[in-house]
Amino acid sequence: MPSAGTVIIGAGQGGYQVAASLREFGYSERIVIVGDEPVLPYQRPPLSKAYLLGEMTAERLLLRPQSYYEKHQIELITGDRAVAIDRAAARVTLVSGAALDYDRLVLATGARNRKLPVEGAGLTGVLYLRTLAESDAIKERFAEAQEIVVVGAGFIGLEIAAVASKLGKRVTVVEPLARVMSRAVSPIVSDFYAQAHAQWGVQLLLNTRIERIRGEGGRVVGVSLSEGRELPADLVLVGIGIEPETTFAQNAGLAIANGIVVDAQLKTADAKISAIGDCAAFPEPGGGRMIRLESVQNAADQGRCVAKRILGEAADYGAVPWFWSDQRDLKLQMVGLTAGCDRMVVRGNPDARAFSVFCFRGDRLAGIESINHAGDHMFGRRLLAAGETLTPDEAGDPGFDLKARLTRLMPARARTAG
Ligand SMILES: Cc1cc2nc3c(=O)[nH]c(=O)nc-3n(C[C@H](O)[C@H](O)[C@H](O)COP(=O)(O)OP(=O)(O)OC[C@H]3O[C@@H](n4cnc5c(N)ncnc54)[C@H](O)[C@@H]3O)c2cc1C
Repeated sequence: MPSAGTVIIGAGQGGYQVAASLREFGYSERIVIVGDEPVLPYQRPPLSKAYLLGEMTAERLLLRPQSYYEKHQIELITGDRAVAIDRAAARVTLVSGAALDYDRLVLATGARNRKLPVEGAGLTGVLYLRTLAESDAIKERFAEAQEIVVVGAGFIGLEIAAVASKLGKRVTVVEPLARVMSRAVSPIVSDFYAQAHAQWGVQLLLNTRIERIRGEGGRVVGVSLSEGRELPADLVLVGIGIEPETTFAQNAGLAIANGIVVDAQLKTADAKISAIGDCAAFPEPGGGRMIRLESVQNAADQGRCVAKRILGEAADYGAVPWFWSDQRDLKLQMVGLTAGCDRMVVRGNPDARAFSVFCFRGDRLAGIESINHAGDHMFGRRLLAAGETLTPDEAGDPGFDLKARLTRLMPARARTAG
């Protein structure tokens, strides 16, 4: 019997990558991608950056044009949602009623926005940002809105605030925690970004909660804060995190724990089914605890890892995590996981808006957060990928040559070839 091929659920960053890598590595069987959004797979990062600002067209968001899928015989079903998996029959059913048999099934269903649980959250003018349609809706509102309240000072909230302030809006960011981007960056970088936003005219209210959103005639007119303060608002943009999209996998009896649980090779307990990207909880390489990452790098590298395994090259997923965030003139690039680090060393000059924070756990480098300092970021990616470290003293010594350190790591053959 011919193989039913690979079915991929979710036509986002990870889903696209599995299909593209399968073809690139020589897979000749059927590939079907199913996505519920009515568009070709696209990149989300510009939705809160250049695209939101109006500096990038929708066409440029696409990961590939339509012709790519035709040329590589990748069947793309858009605007349809997978609703059930019959694991015994190895078949997926779509909301349209269509059924797809699979030999391998990859779940790349991403995540959905966490909803703000307060009165008034359903008013017109309260918006979220995950999809192209949601970015378009915000852009449309930007045309008229003047008083914008952003709920949540994570990456998405601050990127929206950066765009809105650049467009000349009055922007207030309300954050219940004591510092910005606190889940992901060191206090040094949090403080730097708080100051940068203040310079851009953004009002940042830390340790503050939204109690209620006030409306008139069904439209937002303001918000009530925890300390009894009231703010006017004609647009409320909520960025309070995401929840992995796991319902579909859960209904099929797969284990869920902050994501679809997979092993080091990104397989679920059902050997035919893998999960990747924002929806997948996997063992931290070299660590053992279960983690879930929300980044382009993670979705794409996990897509490649699963494609290789389908082609018989099974290996544990071990890529070094990296991430970026663009806010006006500041490019933040992060490598490694820096949460919980106990020692931080600054390299470069924060006053010149170009520096890095090298973050250590004990004496071991856990990651680097770079602001307008791409060289340090690239250094960190290569150093950590090689399983190497450097000492806090070396990191803090402006005379210490990072490039020379990398050259020492490179195998002699690569050096002579270069
Ligand atoms: C506004 C924004 C800015 C970002 N900026 C950055 C950044 O600067 N740097 C960075 O590294 N990362 C950034 N990210 C995160 C990054 O885009 C995600 O981590 C990445 O897209 C995850 O890829 P994925 O394939 O797991 O999920 P997604 O790309 O979200 O794709 C999942 C797709 O599956 C669909 N789907 C879900 N369930 C079903 C179903 N049952 N049937 C069919 N389809 C289904 C979803 O609708 C979605 O289209 C940003 C994200 C957003 C929203």
